[in-house]
Amino acid sequence: MKKGIFLLPMLFVLLISCHSPEDDAVVMTVNGAIFSSEMGVALSHEHVMVDWIGADSTGYHRWDRAEVVERVLPYFQEIVDNGVETFIEFTPAYLGRDPFILQELSQRTGLQIITNTGYYGAVENRFIPEHAYQESAEQLANRWVVEFEHGIDGSELRPGFMKISVASDEPLSELHQKIVEAAALAHLESGLTIASHTVGDRPALEQVELLKAMGVSPEAWIWTHAQSGSLDTILWAAGEGAWIALDNVHFNPEQPTSEEGSIEWYADRIQALKEAGYLEQILISHDAGWYDVGEPNGGGFRGYTDIFEYLIPELADRGFSDEEIDQLLIKNPREAFSIRVRTLN
Ligand SMILES: [Zn+2]
Repeated sequence: MKKGIFLLPMLFVLLISCHSPEDDAVVMTVNGAIFSSEMGVALSHEHVMVDWIGADSTGYHRWDRAEVVERVLPYFQEIVDNGVETFIEFTPAYLGRDPFILQELSQRTGLQIITNTGYYGAVENRFIPEHAYQESAEQLANRWVVEFEHGIDGSELRPGFMKISVASDEPLSELHQKIVEAAALAHLESGLTIASHTVGDRPALEQVELLKAMGVSPEAWIWTHAQSGSLDTILWAAGEGAWIALDNVHFNPEQPTSEEGSIEWYADRIQALKEAGYLEQILISHDAGWYDVGEPNGGGFRGYTDIFEYLIPELADRGFSDEEIDQLLIKNPREAFSIRVRTLN
């Protein structure tokens, strides 16, 4: 790594890490940095587009930006009507990330949109670019920090967090360990939060331990898809300081209430975490969208309103106060995505 490149960003991180997110912490949108206090109601994990073809074949040539924007706009209008001000977009590089589309959507709707850097290892590494096999954790971290410092693909559009992923329900492979280590190094350099697609308990346990071994506080780590974990392990991870992301909230009228994945089931999880004292570490999302590049006009598209139409009313029925609901929709995303270095000491 060239030292000069990082002098400015380190100063930036130093400046913002001196303050708690309540005052002047910042988050990075595709239109530049804003104070985290300006985020308002945020959807903390959603998608605009996904391209499943694989890292060896994907690229901007695969889709028509204007067509994607037109398809997605009505769904964005719906969330604006629900009071959402910030949209955190989770599609990683080599899986259909297009910050130029996000910028256009932001300009057309007024929504603040945050994109990401990092690599996605799940699905047998289909979305991992060739160079990641040869390069070291330091080299990968450098690529992600350079995107944060200088912008994505020659633009000035900068990521606001890292999105990585590992294989489900199994020990971390060497490659996935390297990706987690790269994320830890990039976090220490940039202060970007690490959101990791993690299905099942075991890879969650291993990542928390690996981050700690590298001196990174689990407070910098989001257990993305924590709904897949056992309640015991979720509570353990929360106790370690991790963010617990209950994603894929959706209403299915044919699903029996209280069955796993129902609105009532999500409300049960949230309630259990709240009763254990972890309301301030929960993130909720639809993990919805998305324009599927391989399908005519993007195929079926799942909107982003079930949280407002079903989950929030369910929580209100259970006695959650307005303040507690604001904690979930405003304060937690604001704290989770504030850019600051979080070390163990
Ligand atoms: Zn997702």
